[in-house]
Amino acid sequence: MINTGETVLKEDGVMPSCTKRQSLCGYACCKFTAGNWIMLLPDEYQQAMQQGLTTAHLSFDASHTQATCHKPCQKGELKPIDCSWYPLFPANQTATKFLVADHRKCPIPNHELIDKMLSVHKTALAWEQQHAGSLAQIAQLSRGFVGYMPFPYKIDNNQVVKMTAEEMQELALTHSLPTDYICSEWTISQLGYTALTTPDDQG
Ligand code: SF4
Ligand code: SF4
Repeated sequence: MINTGETVLKEDGVMPSCTKRQSLCGYACCKFTAGNWIMLLPDEYQQAMQQGLTTAHLSFDASHTQATCHKPCQKGELKPIDCSWYPLFPANQTATKFLVADHRKCPIPNHELIDKMLSVHKTALAWEQQHAGSLAQIAQLSRGFVGYMPFPYKIDNNQVVKMTAEEMQELALTHSLPTDYICSEWTISQLGYTALTTPDDQG
């Protein structure tokens, strides 16, 4: 989630928890060597075109729903909303449950992502209001993501609570990173980082 391109919502999503870890992760989220891809929300590409944002750094599928990125986005270039939400992505139709990037790729601990979760929830619901059916569509499409795990927190009656083991299992994706995955972008050893946890995670 590099802070140079522009989302159609003008919210870059950059947060201190990310900024202070970028020298460790080497911007692993902006590399596409593991079969991972970026999702564009319904109407996002069209809005980007209307706003005059350019997209030469991105490659798209025919429907402009899936993209990969070839170089750091710059001012005036589209930064997909998915990039601004990273490492989270809504996993249900009410945006109350989430996927989180495998922590062997993104080192931000889960408890530092709770505010982000609340912010993504709000933005996703606002998008749904403007584009009815979006959340159902993107939650379904996200089942094809690579390198994401179930996020252990959810929003329930406006409260942040822990997911149950059963709920976590229900959100597990088919396409995981390999069990011996080591992110080649990281600048230090990944000792202590697993798919689901970081050394900084609370119990
Ligand atoms: S991988 Fe995580 S910590 Fe690193 S730049 Fe991306 S969001 Fe930030
Ligand atoms: S558009 Fe590319 S460089 Fe910009 S945040 Fe997304 S993946 Fe990273």
